[in-house]
Amino acid sequence: MFTLAVRTILGSFAKYMEMIMRPLIAGNWKMHGDMGWSDKPEVFEKYYPAKSREHLDVLICPPSPFIAPLVRSCSKAQIYVGGQNCHVAESGAHTGEVSAGMLKSAGANYVIVGHSERRANGETDVMVKEKALAANKANIMPIICVGESLAQRESGKASDVVSQQIKSSVPNITDYVIAYEPIWAIGTGKTATASDIAEMHAVIRKIVGNKIKILYGGSVKPANAQQILSTANVNGALIGGASLDMESLAAIAKAAPKNASTKNY
Ligand code: PEP
Repeated sequence: MFTLAVRTILGSFAKYMEMIMRPLIAGNWKMHGDMGWSDKPEVFEKYYPAKSREHLDVLICPPSPFIAPLVRSCSKAQIYVGGQNCHVAESGAHTGEVSAGMLKSAGANYVIVGHSERRANGETDVMVKEKALAANKANIMPIICVGESLAQRESGKASDVVSQQIKSSVPNITDYVIAYEPIWAIGTGKTATASDIAEMHAVIRKIVGNKIKILYGGSVKPANAQQILSTANVNGALIGGASLDMESLAAIAKAAPKNASTKNY
């Protein structure tokens, strides 16, 4: 009887946390854009004014050279800016690399780590974990990407692969975001079904607990955003292709649930 009561209370608390978790709509521009794109936040603001989106956070992750100019225009439009990667070290002889502290000093508040396009080039769970830790030390929120390949899904190993990636890629920190991005859905136009997404996000939720946002990524578009963003345990989206166009990004953001109210911009 006592156990049942405790379980009911914990269940309601979990539902409450889920309800108030503020959606995060994050655009990953990858290697696209130029300096002229610093007017994009203003365009986004026209499609979806800040005063109408107090229930969610919008983030744009441009290529590194455009972070500083975008910070200026994004702050007017109340949009966060993030990096797409960082080095594990604070500074040093690492030609071509950027540290989390440098991203922070340029005005970024988030950094994507372990994107599958980087994992495909040799980035391991251990490296992703160190990068997430470096981001945390620099006071910048890591968005830790995980996701299975098509072969892993087809052989029934998707949950095990993703669970293992989380256990090995997440350092011992309390502030981070997980982006579940099935590799076969990235940039392919193929999206996981709502039940595949719900199943995997439930697996991830069990590992990370109720305070961590879990984003879905993989061909999120205005046409499928509402269904994806209203799926249980989905707290936002990581968007590649559709984030290059502000009308699309705004349409996706508009599809996010409106029941979260904590303003933290
Ligand atoms: C991504 O790059 O993280 C991504 C999800 O890309 P797309 O939306 O184009 O599939």
